[in-house]
Amino acid sequence: MDVDVVVAGAGPVGLMLACELRLGGVSVLVLEREAEPGAVHKTGAMGARSINAPTADAFHRRGLLEEVRRAALMWFTPGAPDSDASDLDASDLDAPDSGAAGPLPFAGHFAGLPVRVDRLDPGDPDLAAHTLGGGAISVLDLEAILERRARALGAEIRRGCPLTGFDAGDDGVTVATPAGRVRAGWLAGCDGGRSTVRRLAAMAFPGTDPEFTGRQAMVEMTEPNLLPLSGWVRTGRGSYAHGPVPGRLHIVEYGPPPADRNAPVTAEEIAGCLRRVAGIDPGVVSVSAGTRYTDATRQAVTYRAGRVLLAGDAAHIHSPAGGQGLNLGVGDAMNLGWKLAATVRGWAPEGLLDTYTEERRPVGAWVQGWSDAQTALGRPDARTAALRAVVADLLDTVPGATYAMKQISGVGRLRGRVAPDLVLDDGSLLAGRCRTARFLLVTRDPRLAARADGFAGRLTVLPGPDMLVRPDGYVAWAGEPPADPFTPWLGRRGLGG
Ligand SMILES: Cc1cc2nc3c(=O)[nH]c(=O)nc-3n(C[C@H](O)[C@H](O)[C@H](O)COP(=O)(O)OP(=O)(O)OC[C@H]3O[C@@H](n4cnc5c(N)ncnc54)[C@H](O)[C@@H]3O)c2cc1C
Repeated sequence: MDVDVVVAGAGPVGLMLACELRLGGVSVLVLEREAEPGAVHKTGAMGARSINAPTADAFHRRGLLEEVRRAALMWFTPGAPDSDASDLDASDLDAPDSGAAGPLPFAGHFAGLPVRVDRLDPGDPDLAAHTLGGGAISVLDLEAILERRARALGAEIRRGCPLTGFDAGDDGVTVATPAGRVRAGWLAGCDGGRSTVRRLAAMAFPGTDPEFTGRQAMVEMTEPNLLPLSGWVRTGRGSYAHGPVPGRLHIVEYGPPPADRNAPVTAEEIAGCLRRVAGIDPGVVSVSAGTRYTDATRQAVTYRAGRVLLAGDAAHIHSPAGGQGLNLGVGDAMNLGWKLAATVRGWAPEGLLDTYTEERRPVGAWVQGWSDAQTALGRPDARTAALRAVVADLLDTVPGATYAMKQISGVGRLRGRVAPDLVLDDGSLLAGRCRTARFLLVTRDPRLAARADGFAGRLTVLPGPDMLVRPDGYVAWAGEPPADPFTPWLGRRGLGG
């Protein structure tokens, strides 16, 4: 073998997975198609991505949160008086309908309808537990942080080197690139929504076709005053926004997608789209950067085919409205990283790797439902407008806003729970002990601690209330230890390590 795992794609998910695999002690080669960071859809305001609570939590556990916060375009900390999310306009996908929010701070939105901070239930235990908050960051900045981290941990990253093919067998995968072949134990496809890995592995990707096309562009106009900088405007064909900076357009058009989705976005296309959606012709003369997306919603039936795995957009695509895709992918990487590393190192319990699909596919399906509901609520017809008014009223209540915020921030739909950031008996914080990505046995019982002998290298014993925490931060068990507290999660004693 040249390397234990080849990761195809150095987007946020591939880079996060590379970090997790290195923490798990396996060698990693990341192949990235682009020679330089900064594909068009990742630059400027088009590259703003929201970070929800589980992602903030994952970064916190790995000691990355402060760096992410420093680089963030904005950060919302629940309960902090000087913190509100109203400048989320930076990513305008996440801006509520124009005028609807008024001067009040909003914590998030559902299909453009604001969820107001002052409607959240301060006594809700799930919201109250997540003190780290969330925010928005340029995906380029996030990738730079993760790339530095992956390299520091010893991952090799080859840019300008796409995966062009592979041959997977029972004992490994031979990966083809323009620079030659690489022999690896495993292949992880983190190569985005149009994944080559998924296509070549013939992994089924069923779902629904798009209802709308979103176009984002920086344009030059001869009559920009015809389009005031006023946030989102809904029309009979979709919606549009001009801003936050002059010349920055975002148009959502319901109807069939353009015939050629790979063609560059032109001034003619943006002008035509504006005429149809807004009925306005501000004289678009040029496009300096333009990109499209749709609400096509698809999910791989399984995230694993033998020695080939999928994570991030390669495994699931959906409308970006609501800002969940990157967060979903980071969750995939956290879940897959330690399981694949344990498998490579030979200590994984039977079936561990298959729990990756079992645990992550339902989360992906839930997110797709949440985003599909927003697509439906964005339809530009009169009955949907009536439905929006009803949903807006519900979101203006304490239970409605609290429910929506729990889903938006990712704290209300955990299958399994991440361990709370307890103060341990030695005064340290539990999250601070997660950086090595080992299991944590928290106990005050010396006999239980003694039973953990033989798992050296995979498990750290810490003083506090009884629980076993997985490397991805999820609680394996808590309270009374089960009859066999270790082997279902850590495999047999003495193996690998
Ligand atoms: C307009 C917009 C706004 C969004 N806003 C949010 C948001 O606010 N919050 C959120 O959570 N999500 C958001 N998303 C979704 C988010 O951007 C994606 O879910 C996320 O980028 C997926 O990361 P990834 O690493 O799986 O894929 P990508 O970011 O697509 O990265 C895949 C990488 O693989 C590389 N690659 C492709 N093919 C190959 C190959 N054959 N060999 C090697 N490398 C290859 C690509 O060059 C790329 O670098 C938004 C998306 C869009 C379009």
